Amino acid sequence: MSDLKIAVVGCAGRMGINLLRQIAATEGCVIAGGTERSGSDALGKDLGALAGLDDVGIMVSDDASVVIASVDAILDFTVPAATAEHANLCAEHGTAHIIGTTGLDADHEAAVAAACEKTAVIRGANMSVGVNLLLGLTRKVAAMLDPDWDIEVVEMHHRHKVDAPSGTALALGKAAAEGRGVDHDTVADRGRDGITGERKRGDIGYATLRGGNVVGDHTVVFAADDERIEITHKAADRTIFARGAVTAALWSKGKGPGLYGMDDVLDLT
Ligand code: NAD
Repeated sequence: MSDLKIAVVGCAGRMGINLLRQIAATEGCVIAGGTERSGSDALGKDLGALAGLDDVGIMVSDDASVVIASVDAILDFTVPAATAEHANLCAEHGTAHIIGTTGLDADHEAAVAAACEKTAVIRGANMSVGVNLLLGLTRKVAAMLDPDWDIEVVEMHHRHKVDAPSGTALALGKAAAEGRGVDHDTVADRGRDGITGERKRGDIGYATLRGGNVVGDHTVVFAADDERIEITHKAADRTIFARGAVTAALWSKGKGPGLYGMDDVLDLT
């Protein structure tokens, strides 16, 4: 069987570099392309050299259309507007789209939803095995506890992160809402400042910390009178996300159009 041809869009980013290294370290796939935004210093560089590996003879391009047309799957950890554009191109060329980008608005979401009709889209707010287990546990615990147990999601990330709460924190809040059988957006309390009034029974609250080079810490707190349950995941290295993304790309081989999650890829359902 021939190797799966994978491109990394946004290949010079924090995740992009990790993704290139992970493809190179994984059997059954090859680095087959990489893109960056126009004006990036990385344009024209060899993808191998960019990731601190041997040259692979393929240069960083700013022509996403050409790159996406020539590969089996792309790994996309970029920015929401670019991800929406990549979704359109993947739909056009039948290329599998592995999406790690967070912070998409309604228009970006609509582009991704349309792409799912034409090609396989695998999406994970967090691609690590540990966080996907945490999502399942959160859903389960929330289903077992009544709303006298207040649910709070606390996250900390590095100082460069631009969206809040993190995509993973929101996915955890949604898992808790699902477990409880309530509409997430109705009960979500995403920011508190000043005289907020008392906490509303049944709300799911969020707290965001930013600083240093923290890769990603998430805790779901279930707090009742006199007792508290806390479930925590701490990411020490971006490799855990890159490993999940490459596993997802390999899993996409032969899959028809549709929206898939990391629970499908990791068989956690
Ligand atoms: P980053 O800023 O280091 O990297 C993003 C890269 O995308 C940059 O190199 C940027 O130049 C590039 N880019 C921007 N527009 C582009 C375009 N039009 N075409 C090609 N490249 C373009 O950010 P990061 O820390 O690597 O994170 C990227 C995204 O991935 C964020 O949304 C983050 O929240 C998310 N993320 C998700 C997971 C997960 O497991 N799902 C894990 C880590 C990060």
